[in-house]
Amino acid sequence: MKKTYKGSCHCGAVRYEADVDLSEGTLKCNCSICTKTRAWLTAISPDSFRLLAGNTDLTEYQFNTKNIHHLFCKHCGVRSFGWGEDATDGKFYAVHITCLDDIGIDELVNAPVTYIDGRHDNWRSPPAEAPYL
Ligand SMILES: [Zn+2]
Repeated sequence: MKKTYKGSCHCGAVRYEADVDLSEGTLKCNCSICTKTRAWLTAISPDSFRLLAGNTDLTEYQFNTKNIHHLFCKHCGVRSFGWGEDATDGKFYAVHITCLDDIGIDELVNAPVTYIDGRHDNWRSPPAEAPYL
């Protein structure tokens, strides 16, 4: 069941609401940027995401195919969400679930995790090794 969470960066300049059904799963990926940022994400549709503050406090980083808009707060550097376009599913938002301020530890512990082998452009399969992610 979807639940509305409040998310933010570390300094609070960027704030948003996200309607998330954690039972639908979360993502951890071994691609270059997810590994370096320890990303733990959930993908939601645009109508489930509302930016409340911080549009001018966000900086965008893109690389490689530039399909994903990796956003971070220009004051504190925290990456609380991003967005992208998928050829099959259209526009989506990727929320860093550790930036959801009112999520419970029990919800994090019990959230199902799907591991993705992004490092080898194998986006539909798990990597050979996942526990380090
Ligand atoms: Zn910030």
